[in-house]
Amino acid sequence: MAFVPQHSLRAQEELKQSGGASIWAQVTAMAVERKAINLGQGYPDFPGHSVARERAAKAILDEPALNQYTPIGGLPALGGSISAYYGRAYPAEQHYDAASEVMVTASGTEALYVTMQALISPGDEVILFEPYFPWYLPAIRLAGGTPVVITLEPPRFAYDEPCLARFAAAVTPRTRAVIMNTPHNPTGHVATAAELEAFAAVVRASGPAGMVCIADEVYENILFGDAVHTRIAALPEMRERTLCVGSASKLFSLTGWRVGWILGGAELLKSIKMVHGYAIFCAPAPLQIGVAAAFDAEAQPPAAAAADGDAAMAIAGGSNFEGVPALLERNFAALAAALSGFGLSVCDADGGYFLVADIAGAVPASMGDSEFCKWLIDKAGVACMPMNVFYSREGPWRCTLVRFCVCKTAPLIDTACEALGRKTAAQHFAESG
Ligand code: PMP
Repeated sequence: MAFVPQHSLRAQEELKQSGGASIWAQVTAMAVERKAINLGQGYPDFPGHSVARERAAKAILDEPALNQYTPIGGLPALGGSISAYYGRAYPAEQHYDAASEVMVTASGTEALYVTMQALISPGDEVILFEPYFPWYLPAIRLAGGTPVVITLEPPRFAYDEPCLARFAAAVTPRTRAVIMNTPHNPTGHVATAAELEAFAAVVRASGPAGMVCIADEVYENILFGDAVHTRIAALPEMRERTLCVGSASKLFSLTGWRVGWILGGAELLKSIKMVHGYAIFCAPAPLQIGVAAAFDAEAQPPAAAAADGDAAMAIAGGSNFEGVPALLERNFAALAAALSGFGLSVCDADGGYFLVADIAGAVPASMGDSEFCKWLIDKAGVACMPMNVFYSREGPWRCTLVRFCVCKTAPLIDTACEALGRKTAAQHFAESG
């Protein structure tokens, strides 16, 4: 008799739920097959921070000890570099102790996953806001938690008054955590200090045994115009109940390295570190040392950054992350103009990797986001992602939002703009009758 695999109940549930992700797989496969310009998935088409890559290559080739296990919480050198970086980038804030308040993970995804495993018991509730990074929900559910979803409204997707009132009303004695993401994937909204203060008030009101704030700040360095990244952990009484998640995927454009980190109170990190130790043990050693070198190279005093090269690219604290934030801002503007010309409504963003556009009004009322993404590959040779997978709604509904990744080289974005500029959506539809 053939063996019949028996999955755990939670895995069975999750396998049933992951239907939404298959539309991403379909769009990606179609983009590859048609050789479309792929602005679907959120990864750079350039190689990532050069200082990190050079340092890691040296470690792999020349430093035997850096090809072996590191301590569970990360290489002390990386902990030190992370702690020093945050000290330089946010000088007004309380210092994070390298040994006890910084934990290195194998990516932001792992950081979120082990945090849920460590803090959530069956039946606990975790509040989050949609549209959301689709990995949040399975991480909550696989820990036995119940996601409680609140909707951010387009076109600004702000943590505004109505949204925060819904947040406050959603808090129950079972609320163990809330996930707050800024700069936001997919919308690019950067929460203002006022929004975060009101948000923090709801968190604090849950009391001493109340919720933890999981601050997903992986896009913290990608800020457009005069947008400022406020760390919610810096607000009064928030440091002790906030876990701040960061990632080399985004800070240094190294999505394949799988190195991330969590900043938080030593007590809070204890169980998370334990789960991480059993799941992964440690992040890859040579990549940890590479990331440490990149941290050390950033947030130089402004004068040093200016002397290094392009003063115009230097951002607050003197960091320029090898020009990536400036590149993404430029790409966003170029793509926004092209998509508006094409006929879509582009939602403004203050930072992040993505551009969100609304197709309503530009396409027939029967066309939803998934169908549009396939249609756009067919007509313009440009791939984007349907946003229904960023929402928790069940049953058939018409999502009209799509997401384009701007974390690409300028020539790729310009080629996409050209392709979109050949005909408007209305012209395409008129032609096809
Ligand atoms: N948080 C958000 C909001 C993200 O968009 C991502 C990746 N796209 C992550 C966390 C995880 O990033 P990584 O696992 O590559 O560190």
